Formats: sequence, C-alpha cells, structure tokens
Amino acid sequence: MTRVHTQQSLLEHYVKKILAAPVYELAVRTPLQPAPALSAALGNQILLKREDLQPTFSFKIRGAYNKLVQLSPEQKARGVVTASAGNHAQGVALAARELGIDATIVMPATTPELKVLGVRSRGADALLHGESFPFALAFALELAQTTGKTFVSPFDDPDVIAGQGTVAMEILRQHQGPLDAIFVPVGGGGLIAGIAAYVKYLRPEVRIIGVESEHSACLQAALQADQRVVLPSVGTFADGVAVAQIGAHGFEVCRFCVDELLTVSNDELCAAIKNIYDDTRSITEPSGALAVAGIKKYVARSAARGQTFVAIDSGANINFDSLRHVAERAALCDAPA
Ligand SMILES: *Cc1c(COP(=O)(O)O)cnc(C)c1O
Repeated sequence: MTRVHTQQSLLEHYVKKILAAPVYELAVRTPLQPAPALSAALGNQILLKREDLQPTFSFKIRGAYNKLVQLSPEQKARGVVTASAGNHAQGVALAARELGIDATIVMPATTPELKVLGVRSRGADALLHGESFPFALAFALELAQTTGKTFVSPFDDPDVIAGQGTVAMEILRQHQGPLDAIFVPVGGGGLIAGIAAYVKYLRPEVRIIGVESEHSACLQAALQADQRVVLPSVGTFADGVAVAQIGAHGFEVCRFCVDELLTVSNDELCAAIKNIYDDTRSITEPSGALAVAGIKKYVARSAARGQTFVAIDSGANINFDSLRHVAERAALCDAPA
C-alpha cells in the first residue's frame, strides 16, 4: 500500500481482503466466550475470543493460510521459506501441507526440540541456523533470494494481516450488541492491524486497545517517535510477541486506528493466565494472556463499570515445564480487580 490511498480507502481495501479470505478451509470459527468470574471481579462484561482453540493453538494459521493459498501456481511449485521459532512456524507448516507446498522453516539453533519436532511432524523442513532470531531471519531471506522460494512474513504482509483480520469479522457477527472496546495483543502488529482495519471501517465507535509486553513495546516506541524504531533489546518470556520492530504495513494502519496502547509486566501476564484458567479451565501462553492483563490494567486506571470488553486469547503454546514458574508468579501478584 502506498500513500496514494486515503485512510478510508486503505481500510476499505483491507475489509474487502478480509471478507474474501478463504481461511475456513483450515482455521475454525472460534467461540466468543463469557468470562463470568473475571466479569464479576471487574464490574464489566468480559468476553474471550478463544483463538487458543485453533489447530496449532494460535490464530497464526489464519494469516499463513491466507498468504499461501493466494500464491501463483509457479510460486506454489517453488515453495515457501520463513523464519520462526514459534506459532508462525506451525501455521506455515500446516498451511503448506494442506496446500501441497514445500515449506522450509529456519529456526534459531537454540529452539527447543519440541518446537522443531512440531514443525517436522507437519511435514515441513526445519533448518536450524543462527544464535537467535535475527540470524535465522537473515538466513531465511538469503534462502528466498537464492532459491526463488517465497518468503512468508509472520506479520508484515497485507495477505497475512487480512487473514488475521478475520478474527474481527467473527467478533462483530458473534456479538451484535453494544461493544466498548477490543483488547488486542501486539507483537509485530499483524493481528491488531487486521482487527483495527475491519472494526474502524464498520464500527468506528468500538475502541481498539493494543497491549504490549513491557519488554517488547515496539508499537509504543514507534508511535512516540512517529517512525518504526528498532528496540535495542527484547525480553522473550512472552515469546509470541518478542519483536523488536513493528511491521511497516501494520504501522500504516495502527498509526490512525489504535485508540490506546497499554504495556504489562511478566507478573501481570502470569496473573492473567490464572484468571483465564479460572474461567475456562484452559491454559494460555504468556502472549495469549496479554489482552486480559490489559483489561485489568485499563479498568483499574479508568474505573470503567458496566462496559463490554473483548479480549483476544491469542494462543496456548506453552511448555508444560513453564507452568511451575507461571503459578508461582501468579500467586505473588493476584486478586483480579
Ligand atoms: C504472533 C502472536 C501474537 C502477536 O501477533 P502480531 O501479529 O505479531 O502482532 C500474539 N499472541 C500470540 C500467541 C502470537 O503467536
């Protein structure tokens, strides 16, 4: 997208792409589920969009499938390459298998065996390369250059953003009554850009509130500087959002569509994982709990009462071994309201 577009026509462009995205060949329409205990504690109606229930246990399958399905026959035949140690890797691997496309996923050499096996078991090639994510990414881009395979970005691509935007299409269909705000976790900004574009075009009164980890608040830094700054370091407890620079396409939407941004601490994420467990008996990964942690912070600050808030529960890929740490920190932090 270029500057030639007015803001409204940029949104319209995304809304059309979202309405046409054929994600349901692989993704499911997830429930929008009330959280009764959290709602009572906070004095507001809280609804959870259960993206942790997708195949591969995160929303990433939507964007990955929407990207891959729209490649030309020649591109499909040459295959795709990406870099990821997490949910995007699983999404690309599954979408590629479904569509009969060869996928190469470059993962940092330090990636846990479990995640490497997760990619290989879905039929993709996992290449271990580099000390950390930036090195794996550089290698993936080089591979795309030398082999002619298409690089699939985890967030900085209009087709990926449109795939993630189908989450918002479902929310507005599932909840037609008053809706005050949607709280969205932010990593590279693909999810929030898709959601914000759809909602601001159709229901501009609904507030879009982004929630970042205080250890990777790259959208906040970019909005403050009015350009896409690169964070000098990034914390990885919330590994799904551990991104140092907001995507260019996402930033183009976020700079005028995001009403407010909040940051939360790791301990607040642990407490939110417990809140979600108490209401759903489901375990969320740290990034998946960002939106609920953000709602708690927002309500405490604004003293909002009687409003309706949606939290995107974005994923559930957490190592079982990490649960001990999460439970310990949650015990130190809690009491929801
Ligand atoms: C990728 C991811 C996010 C952030 O999405 P972006 O499009 O990178 O902003 C949030 N939660 C989970 C679980 C994710 O995997």
